Amino acid sequence: MAIDRFGRSINYLRISLTDHCNLRCVYCMPEDQTFRPNAELMQDDEVLLLTYLFASLGFHKIRLTGGEPTVRAHIVDLVRGIAHTPGIRSVSMTTNGVLLGRLAQPLADAGLQRVNISIDTLNPEKFKRLTRWGKLEDVWNGIEAAETAGLSPVKLNAVIVRGYNENDVVDLARLTLDRPWQIRFIEMMPFAGVTEVQMGGVVTASEIQERIEDSLGDLQAIHEGQLDGEARMFKLPRAQGEVGFISSVSAPFCSACNRARLTADGRLRLCLLREKEVDLLTPLRAGATLDDLRQIILDGVWEKPWGHGLAEGVIPLNRVMNEIGG
Ligand code: SAM
Ligand code: SF4
Repeated sequence: MAIDRFGRSINYLRISLTDHCNLRCVYCMPEDQTFRPNAELMQDDEVLLLTYLFASLGFHKIRLTGGEPTVRAHIVDLVRGIAHTPGIRSVSMTTNGVLLGRLAQPLADAGLQRVNISIDTLNPEKFKRLTRWGKLEDVWNGIEAAETAGLSPVKLNAVIVRGYNENDVVDLARLTLDRPWQIRFIEMMPFAGVTEVQMGGVVTASEIQERIEDSLGDLQAIHEGQLDGEARMFKLPRAQGEVGFISSVSAPFCSACNRARLTADGRLRLCLLREKEVDLLTPLRAGATLDDLRQIILDGVWEKPWGHGLAEGVIPLNRVMNEIGG
């Protein structure tokens, strides 16, 4: 079992399958972002070997992310391999949904259990402005295909950026009245490289909640106010679905963090918002034994930072979000 020096049991791995993306969201990357050459990224057999090693150390929950995981070649076969790794109980994916229209069913058939789909507004023009390249219609098709394929409950993620979509939170929350979906509002986090969008752009969870309650009524806390993953969950009166808030900036959930990340270039990253990483791909390619690699992982996990330093103004400078895997 992998534990850190604060006694947290770390059993949830987020794997970034690529840093590439078919969108250019303003809060995630600059429009002229350059990407790593394929040879620097984990190849399919390397992803599967590392998954096997993490699973043998008690990691049983995997989330695939990126960049955009669905743009990776052979994504369906890769998901099948990960889902069939002994010890892996749950495989989910965070995606922008653009390609889910055709991929949702094959991914579900391959063993994917759930998806979180990013959708920051229901307004096509604003969607285009936020994602620079995206068409809202593609994402809607993706959401419907995910539901049809049984990738449920459908969870939607919305990053709220002042000046872009803070007025859209009510329409997004309203979706939960008639649908059994979860919409989770995410406070924008700062990364070097996209700071001009982020200066003054953070809209706190409490402001979002206030806007929703002013229009749609009181949000009732569910799960006795406990965190569901990283989100605090609520329900609107008579709603089928749920509204959640991920307040990484204003109310961090670090003490309950059970996750580690594997970057697309094979680094173990222990905290999304700390620069510390442990290289796994170089020793793997240099012929390290499985036991050596397990020890490197365990040593890395042991050193997991207690939490992020946003409150002290410490922001990660070495990578932007798409490289780490959100
Ligand atoms: N491309 C996929 C997507 O957009 O869902 C997966 C990768 S993306 C980096 C993962 C999540 O991170 C998305 O929900 C995205 O909205 C969120 N994200 C990206 N940049 C962010 C930022 N600066 N602050 C908070 N969330 C961010
Ligand atoms: Fe791509 Fe996701 Fe980043 Fe948007 S948030 S640019 S979809 S990786």
